Amino acid sequence: MTFPDWKIAPTIPLADLVEGVRSYSWDLPLEGELEHWGQTYAWAPLLHVEAEVARRGEGIVLTLLFSGGAVARCARCLSPAPLAIEGKVRYFYSLRGSDHGETEFTDDQILFLDRSAREIDLATPLWESLVLSLPAVVLCREDCRGLCPCCGADLNREPCHCPVDAADPRLEALRELEGLRDDKEVPEGGN
Ligand SMILES: [Zn+2]
Ligand SMILES: [Zn+2]
Repeated sequence: MTFPDWKIAPTIPLADLVEGVRSYSWDLPLEGELEHWGQTYAWAPLLHVEAEVARRGEGIVLTLLFSGGAVARCARCLSPAPLAIEGKVRYFYSLRGSDHGETEFTDDQILFLDRSAREIDLATPLWESLVLSLPAVVLCREDCRGLCPCCGADLNREPCHCPVDAADPRLEALRELEGLRDDKEVPEGGN
């Protein structure tokens, strides 16, 4: 998974953060593709990001909202399917600083900012949230009919000419099961 080279750095200068709430927004260019969940997502060119940062004393609550898009293959018919990406995630920071001098997570999910930090770098939280928001199963539309398992025809475009019985190998297994049940029932019925 490649981390994008954001051409606009999504950061929040700590000097900005006086008591109260501040808002920021960016339109971050995204390019290329991401391999995830065993498939390929081609990014839409822009990711819109809004950040709301609330500071109270040494505590900072960061709320990130992002919206963008990607194109991936439909799980049923394999045609390219555009998908909207939206996400909202919240992070908690403390300006108290850590003993180790590094930004780190604790059990209660508070990020302690290094005492010498000058900004909050949003690149990592944003990228993590973005990747997590990608759907594992993409459909071109809710009722996509998919491909015929026999001849591979796209059933959204036209019905194929495969016999209905042969269209789904799972039906064959079902029929076999039914056959077994019939065999059992025959001697019972005969008594
Ligand atoms: Zn489809
Ligand atoms: Zn067919």
